[in-house]
Amino acid sequence: MNVYDSERIAAMLEKHGLTQTENVADADIIILNTCAVRAKATDKVYSCLGRIRRAKKESALLGIVGCVARESGSDAFRRIPELNFVLGPQSYHKLPEIIKNPDIKLLNIDLGGLEKFDELPQMEKSPTVAYIPVQEGCNHCCTYCIVPYTRGRELSRPFDDVIADTVNAAKTGAIEICFLGQNVNGYKYTDEKGNLFRLSDLIRETAKLPEILRIRFTSSYPTEMTDDLINIFGTEPKLLPFLNMPIQSGSPRILKKMNRPNDLDAYKTIVQKLKNVRPDIQISSDFIVGFPDETDEDFAETLRIAREIKYINSYSFKYSPRPHTAAAIMPNQISEQIKSVRLQQLDAQLNENQREFNMSCIDKEMICLFEGNDKTGRNLVFRTPYMQQCIVEKPDHEITPLQKIKITDANKSCLHGEIIK
Ligand code: SF4
Repeated sequence: MNVYDSERIAAMLEKHGLTQTENVADADIIILNTCAVRAKATDKVYSCLGRIRRAKKESALLGIVGCVARESGSDAFRRIPELNFVLGPQSYHKLPEIIKNPDIKLLNIDLGGLEKFDELPQMEKSPTVAYIPVQEGCNHCCTYCIVPYTRGRELSRPFDDVIADTVNAAKTGAIEICFLGQNVNGYKYTDEKGNLFRLSDLIRETAKLPEILRIRFTSSYPTEMTDDLINIFGTEPKLLPFLNMPIQSGSPRILKKMNRPNDLDAYKTIVQKLKNVRPDIQISSDFIVGFPDETDEDFAETLRIAREIKYINSYSFKYSPRPHTAAAIMPNQISEQIKSVRLQQLDAQLNENQREFNMSCIDKEMICLFEGNDKTGRNLVFRTPYMQQCIVEKPDHEITPLQKIKITDANKSCLHGEIIK
């Protein structure tokens, strides 16, 4: 979501005559687009602001946008007096105001709903992978999560608006569409005639665009995996056989404390239904270790489900107490030391899953998306349908953005392959 927001901010400022620079000392305006999902991310923002205020030109405007801006509010000005603007994730379209009035201090952390999408300019050139938000906010209220506070209640964008964005992305260079939302599969939009549109309808409509060759979406909430969405994995070949469906913990007791779906059999049934319609599908998850009151037995259940589902490409974090969340004040907080040990054990399991899956890809042929050169400049980097990195020796012929590649070798972090002409 932040990649999307940053692209839109850049496009909006370019319309106001600004160009991008990599050098802080050259910049006339410096914007940190921020994430507040973990305390560490918030701390990084403030230490980065400390460095930037020393390196920037005196006249340069400095500000933060996104979830840390919403979390901090006016306190951000107290902590960093050089800040000129603090704009929440739903008000960064107000940025041009600060360009017109550089002498004001601009604070706007309102939850303005979907208004920003109407204000943002369409991209004139789309990246190969276009991120398209379909909804903002979340109604689920997981007890550890700050997102319902920073992004607000769930709102789905009008179906036609989302499709207009995908058409524009397709016409301006996108090959892959990634639909985004904090609760992307909760997308529900009813038009004025009473027609209900779901994420499966967006996928079906987008797949009709000849320029778009790959479709994916993130992040999914398990109980929102309705049958229409499961079944489209079986009928729409452009939809990648890869799904991020976070479980967070393998312990029903901890899931209940997290206010997450805690019926593991129901979760496994969804995975099985997906495999029935798309046998080659792989699942990824996010995990939190060391949630308050998590015992060794609870954690053992997390390791067990990670092994059983054979998650690939997953994200694992130590629980981080966040303001405005119920879990931050729960009793029996877990020590950092125990969290670190558990994280290491979980990562070892997830790495083993990844290694096994990567090895199973050897000798297979995959259609992969070109990403760029590697650091040496001698190799090309591609992304497989399962989001693995695949390294290929630079050929002496032109390549197309999507290439059929034969996988020749693998390790836990990447694949190696050869382009099939
Ligand atoms: S479903 Fe995701 S975004 Fe929503 S509250 Fe839970 S963790 Fe946060």
